[in-house]
Amino acid sequence: MKITFLGTGTSQGIPVIGCHCAVCRSSDPHDTRRRASIAIESRGSTVIIDTSPDFRMQVLDARIEHLDAVLFTHPHADHLHGLDDIRGFNHIQHHAIPCYGDARTLAVIRESFRYIFEAPDHGGGLPQITLNEIRDPMKIAGIEFEPLNILHGPVGILAYRFGNAAYVTDASTIPDETMAKLAGLDVLILNALRQKPHPTHLSIGESVEIAQKLKPARTYFTHMCHRVMHKPTEAELPDGIHLAWDGLEIEVAEDT
Ligand SMILES: [Zn+2]
Ligand SMILES: [Zn+2]
Ligand SMILES: [Zn+2]
Repeated sequence: MKITFLGTGTSQGIPVIGCHCAVCRSSDPHDTRRRASIAIESRGSTVIIDTSPDFRMQVLDARIEHLDAVLFTHPHADHLHGLDDIRGFNHIQHHAIPCYGDARTLAVIRESFRYIFEAPDHGGGLPQITLNEIRDPMKIAGIEFEPLNILHGPVGILAYRFGNAAYVTDASTIPDETMAKLAGLDVLILNALRQKPHPTHLSIGESVEIAQKLKPARTYFTHMCHRVMHKPTEAELPDGIHLAWDGLEIEVAEDT
């Protein structure tokens, strides 16, 4: 199974519009971050988690030309607003793309993208998707996904475990029952916004602590803001913990 980081930035993306800080002006490509998303490829299937506002350029750069399903973590704009560009895949594949999320996410999609569900024939200009609630572990495009409950500030959202890997973004708290389900991972992908604590996102220090409790073989941080410069931050992280970057591809052994 291959995981590609399509985006590793927080909601504004990096560089931030109008910002002249060292990270936003950095010439290191690791310091340019699109909004957070990953692609999972396994046995010819491709599943993407979240359709960020950068979705179109992300799939073009990753040369993804076939999409089997989309899973959503939660309906914040930085995880959802690229949804319209799914129509590129509809044109190639001639069928609706199944999308999965919790009930609240699906309700927000119906509301925010009303035109998708209400407009009459739009000459092929509308994305075609199906909305499917995910509450229990489910096989999607041949990959078993287990939805996991996490807290994003006061709001409950989803993370996903798939085989020996897990994608946990926009967490501020991981409840004990979910911590138990994240045991024995090869790869943990976890959000880590910045050094300073934040009310709705884990900080780097908090995420290091969680990774050290869960002890996955490898941990990759994502959803970083422009206070995080790649090179010096990466150098300070404990062994086995890394900052992900846009375009990074990692292999994960298939679950047996
Ligand atoms: Zn986010
Ligand atoms: Zn900046
Ligand atoms: Zn969010």
